[in-house]
Amino acid sequence: MAFKAEYMWVDGTEPTPLVRSKTKVLEDGTGEYPIWGFDGSSTNQAPGENSDCVLRPVYSCPDPIRGGDNVLVMCEVLLPDMTPHPTNTRAACAEVAEKFADQEAWFGIEQEYTLFESDRIKPLGFPEGGFPGPQGPYYCGVGSGLIYGRDISEEHASACIEAGIGIAGTNAEVMPGQWEFQIGPLGPLEVSDQLWVARWLLHRIAEEFEVSVSIDPKPVTGDWNGAGCHTNYSTRAMRESYQPIIDACEALGNNIDEHISNYGSGNENRLTGLHETQRIDQFNYGVSDRGASVRIPWQVEVDQKGYLEDRRPASNMDPYLVTRLLIQTTCG
Ligand code: ADP
Ligand code: MN
Ligand code: MN
Ligand code: MN
Repeated sequence: MAFKAEYMWVDGTEPTPLVRSKTKVLEDGTGEYPIWGFDGSSTNQAPGENSDCVLRPVYSCPDPIRGGDNVLVMCEVLLPDMTPHPTNTRAACAEVAEKFADQEAWFGIEQEYTLFESDRIKPLGFPEGGFPGPQGPYYCGVGSGLIYGRDISEEHASACIEAGIGIAGTNAEVMPGQWEFQIGPLGPLEVSDQLWVARWLLHRIAEEFEVSVSIDPKPVTGDWNGAGCHTNYSTRAMRESYQPIIDACEALGNNIDEHISNYGSGNENRLTGLHETQRIDQFNYGVSDRGASVRIPWQVEVDQKGYLEDRRPASNMDPYLVTRLLIQTTCG
């Protein structure tokens, strides 16, 4: 029987690309998904007079929404001559991943997000025309009047598990309507492909609740935590001893601007030095320090091995960029 393959890709919207998708009906599973195309003039990826862009499948999984034999297919975007499209950040990530494959980089990405009513103005749990009580009881909280949108987070986590996506956990965040899920630890391409699919699933599931997902790093101005994508990172050497972790932190301290300029847009509104962040124009690392740019978890210091947490990436970051840069800066 024919089945549906939902082809998805990252578009060219600036400053923050969107994930797009369309459905291809395929005949009985060969397990191979063909190359396809789309109208790049509608996704900020091509001029109207030369609009064809190519979709090349790079990752697929069962479709937990449609069920049955249906699948989700993550793609990279190519030009008609089959070279990477300028918006294709995966190609460069793949190159770096291959070059340093022997160092066995792993990533665990903490995706924070904020749920809004379908007007995209009022966060879930905010009273009409006002603000809820101050931050404090919401993070990992429980109970009516504190927690909003748990059904979405729950359904999303179950969908990821069913799809075989490497989801590691979820939690309610510091602001009402704000949540987090983690993907990983996985290699750079695996974690990035799966994070994009997980983002798509989140938007898709929230759609059923007439709720809108924002990955804006500062969705509400004022005394409210922003939303990040803390990126936990290790190489095999870091998983075996402590000095390589310190060396990686030092290397990151020598390449601040390249990282910050690729860590998501609007991040200057989030990295203020308040709300568990370091200022965007300062760099430091420290054990257990949630006000640092890079945190070494206390358990890692105790064990004298493990991983580091780069706290700077914004919730709207592109994981192909962030994972590539972390490897490039620390493995070279
Ligand atoms: P936090 O305490 O900052 O909220 P989380 O528990 O949300 O931390 O996320 C930690 C992430 O780090 C998880 O996704 C986990 O899989 C990942 N992780 C654990 N060990 C490693 C490792 N050695 N390398 C990379 N990531 C790791
Ligand atoms: Mn977390
Ligand atoms: Mn968090
Ligand atoms: Mn974290």
